[in-house]
Amino acid sequence: MYSRIYVLRFPKETSDKPMICKLVKEYDVEFNILKATILPQCEGIMVIELIGHKKNVRASLDYLKGLGVVTEALSTIIRRDENRCFQCGACTGICPTHALYIERETMAVLFEPDKCTGCGLCVTTCPVRAMEVSLLQTVNSFG
Ligand code: SF4
Ligand code: SF4
Repeated sequence: MYSRIYVLRFPKETSDKPMICKLVKEYDVEFNILKATILPQCEGIMVIELIGHKKNVRASLDYLKGLGVVTEALSTIIRRDENRCFQCGACTGICPTHALYIERETMAVLFEPDKCTGCGLCVTTCPVRAMEVSLLQTVNSFG
């Protein structure tokens, strides 16, 4: 499953069109709106997380672009607060890239940032919020 946060910039002609609900119905892409500023007859901006198969997310972005929406992926960086982490291991089962894993010899929960895609699944799984997400500058429309 692919998950990424995007910034969508809507031209004023599209600000009153129900485009986002079509992402679920026609592209099987779930969404989570993190921030939205859309005024009637004005340009709008939305920060949204898109979740689904990568090809479906790509198709949904192509759909939005076809309507004049400018899309930019947000680069994310994940950090672990070592003072909070109590090594419960709950995050290791959910991490799709094994950036979080249990080292068998020591049974320690390790985090390898180089393997992390920034999907954010561990952030909501961790019971003590030891995994933190920071949003960086926009990068490209699909990554
Ligand atoms: S954000 Fe968390 S769950 Fe997702 S790849 Fe990185 S460490 Fe794994
Ligand atoms: S779920 Fe949180 S507390 Fe548990 S091992 Fe992972 S980061 Fe540490």
